[in-house]
Amino acid sequence: QAKSDGRGTFRVFEPQMDESARARLNLERELREALTNERFEVHYQPLVKLSSNDVTGVEALVRWRHAERGLVSPAVFIPIAEETGLIVPLGEWVLRRACEDAKRWPAHVGVAVNVSAHQLRQRNFATMVFSILSESGLDPSRLELEITESVLLEETDANLETLHVLRSFGIRIAMDDFGTGYSSISYLRRFPFDKIKIDRSFVREIGEKPEAAAIIRAIIGLGQSLNMTTLVEGIETDIQRNAVLSEGAHEMQGFLFSPPRPAQEVDALFKVEHSKNKVA
Ligand code: C2E
Ligand code: MG
Ligand code: MG
Ligand code: MG
Repeated sequence: QAKSDGRGTFRVFEPQMDESARARLNLERELREALTNERFEVHYQPLVKLSSNDVTGVEALVRWRHAERGLVSPAVFIPIAEETGLIVPLGEWVLRRACEDAKRWPAHVGVAVNVSAHQLRQRNFATMVFSILSESGLDPSRLELEITESVLLEETDANLETLHVLRSFGIRIAMDDFGTGYSSISYLRRFPFDKIKIDRSFVREIGEKPEAAAIIRAIIGLGQSLNMTTLVEGIETDIQRNAVLSEGAHEMQGFLFSPPRPAQEVDALFKVEHSKNKVA
């Protein structure tokens, strides 16, 4: 993007800028087409209770099935979808698909869906969520919406109001990527989140730096005193799992247990194990 930083007029002529701007436009056009042609897929990653290894739910994570590039990561296209507003129809599509898929899974399995600031800002957001729930027949208590701190940074009052309405339906609200922003903690006293998802950047250094475990311990303690479920993201090793278990975290999510998987694999997972939904 050419920003007016004093050099703005010249920057657009830099070949590099020109090329990245063109690539972006191209991506935007392709995204629109992909949306029309339903070239997206929703994959699901298990959320696991640390004390028992039970799957309590799954997180819906969108992917783009691209003809040449293969499966494209949301890290690539979500930022552009947000800037262009395409996140509104895309997010709605993901939510509908997630609710329909979750309907096939056992009643104690929840489904978590990521929500962008742009979506929450829509005045009919809560109504849209509620219609999708009733159309799919999924009980609201099985849906969890994940929001990041950036969602709350703007239009705070209206956004908080929407979150309260959603919560009054029985939908759970989780704070995603906790600790990555500047004021995660201050949002905890403005809204009664049901869950805190501690960002995986804290987990990476467990076993290497004692400070990492100390910070995780403090966040877990904070969550517990506020009666919020604490989940730790990005658990890749047994060392990390055991560390967050002993610090008192409730749940984990990460490659150690399972990467995000296509819906059919989740179907298989829940059919294979009838009584207890354990994998591993
Ligand atoms: P997120 O909501 O924090 O989702 C967790 C991300 O961490 C996922 O990346 C997941 O694949 C990755 N992950 C899980 N376990 C591990 C692990 O053990 N190690 C590592 N290194 N990574 C792990 P993914 O699927 O690429 O999604 C990236 C982000 O894109 C998400 O972060 C979320 O912010 C956004 N996103 C994905 N789907 C949607 C969507 O439907 N709507 C919106 N608004 N955002 C979405
Ligand atoms: Mg998330
Ligand atoms: Mg997250
Ligand atoms: Mg994260």
